[in-house]
Amino acid sequence: MGDCIFCGIAEGAIPSKKIFEDDETLAFHDLAPKAPVHFLVIPKRHIRNIMECGAEDGVLLGKLLLRAQGLARELGCGEGGARFVINCKSDGGQTVDHLHIHVLGGRGLGWPPG
Ligand code: 5GP
Ligand code: ZN
Repeated sequence: MGDCIFCGIAEGAIPSKKIFEDDETLAFHDLAPKAPVHFLVIPKRHIRNIMECGAEDGVLLGKLLLRAQGLARELGCGEGGARFVINCKSDGGQTVDHLHIHVLGGRGLGWPPG
């Protein structure tokens, strides 16, 4: 959609290190990783943020979350765990306005976030 970076990645117009792809979803490594494992799971359809989702998006959201979990396992986070994060709008620290789940793992992470 327009100049959305993640739509560009989903369409293949912008390169990324893809981990998984199907008709509706895509997972790729974050460009600026904040942990040894740091990847993003997105819907291919442009959804701005989690606040814009409704009941009709429930199945898609479930797929995204389960894909994030499965890939976290495959990338070695099954034992130690990981953090699954959805930043939303300005207070949530969202910088790319296309819904995405961050998965961070491979080291201990502090809480609460700053
Ligand atoms: P947000 O702050 O919106 O929750 O997270 C956006 C994430 O997207 C950031 O962690 C940032 O490093 C990542 N990112 C921004 N632009 C690109 C890009 O072009 N390619 C990839 N792979 N990641 C990106
Ligand atoms: Zn988009």
